[in-house]
Amino acid sequence: MFAAEFEYRKAGSIAEAVQLLTDNPEARLLAGGHSLIPLMRFRLARPELVIDIGGIAGMRGISVSGDTINIGALTTHAEIAGSAEVQQANGLLAEAASGIGDPAVRNRGTIGGNLAHADPSSDWGTVLTALGATVSVQGPTGSRTIDVGSLIEDAFVTALAENELITTVSVPTLAANQRAEYAKMAHPASFYSVVGGAVVVTMDGNRCTAASVAVGGLTPRPVKASLVEAALSGTTLTQDSIADATARLSEDLAAAGVDIIGDLYASANYRAGVAPIEVKHALMHAIGLAHH
Ligand SMILES: Cc1cc2nc3c(=O)[nH]c(=O)nc-3n(C[C@H](O)[C@H](O)[C@H](O)COP(=O)(O)OP(=O)(O)OC[C@H]3O[C@@H](n4cnc5c(N)ncnc54)[C@H](O)[C@@H]3O)c2cc1C
Repeated sequence: MFAAEFEYRKAGSIAEAVQLLTDNPEARLLAGGHSLIPLMRFRLARPELVIDIGGIAGMRGISVSGDTINIGALTTHAEIAGSAEVQQANGLLAEAASGIGDPAVRNRGTIGGNLAHADPSSDWGTVLTALGATVSVQGPTGSRTIDVGSLIEDAFVTALAENELITTVSVPTLAANQRAEYAKMAHPASFYSVVGGAVVVTMDGNRCTAASVAVGGLTPRPVKASLVEAALSGTTLTQDSIADATARLSEDLAAAGVDIIGDLYASANYRAGVAPIEVKHALMHAIGLAHH
């Protein structure tokens, strides 16, 4: 099916994109187009104006400054997966990027578009929530910073105003005593996440001194698993202690007050059952008790 008729403008700068959005509240930004174009072709989105931001130079690229990795919103998943700087500073980012979709998706899809689209099956929301990442957002009155954990409010709903765009994603580097992993049950056709669990553990020998755990895919927005985190913190990580900690995930999901997603591919019950297993896998891989 062809998209409904629309006007096309190419923004030359962030300021121009913001101005166009402000002047045209029904307009949509176009980054990699891997979500917007299918929506338009199915006529689930019918923007009168499409603002192509793909040529804005300042929104692309990766740089590491101190303990922060700054990734332009237009940076593709493939660029993140292939970046030696990212692999060195935070291997989880490169690993998660390389598990997104297929090569065509990774070569066109952008980290900013992925977050702004807020598809519950996407990987970046879950991974970046566990990593404590933030986004810089530009609007008509200036810029602001939002935690990725607060950016995604519901399925396909974000905290962005209609005339704001994500310009940069900032992610902490991993310290020498931190281990991070992401494990997902991927849909076999698209590789979208059916259930995904991301973990970051700070270790003192075999003892975990701090943990950050997020799950997604099964929930409309990524959920931070604070009871699992508390059960891991201060604990010597073994197969048993990890199993005990991840068993608390159902309480975290209940406390988050979110509906568990069920569809033709996997029921809500099935997803809820798989979630602690994915978190357990991520933890076991993170600390070397299991290998891919
Ligand atoms: C077959 C297939 C398989 C996929 N598999 C996976 C997967 O396994 N895991 C996964 O995580 N993702 C997956 N994706 C999603 C893909 O990786 C893209 O990240 C996603 O489609 C959105 O990024 P985009 O750059 O294409 O955004 P676009 O489609 O261009 O835009 C999406 C939405 O975000 C808005 N937007 C774009 N950029 C910005 C910005 N900087 N600021 C504010 N709003 C913005 C647009 O206006 C639009 O509403 C898959 C997609 C396809 C088609």
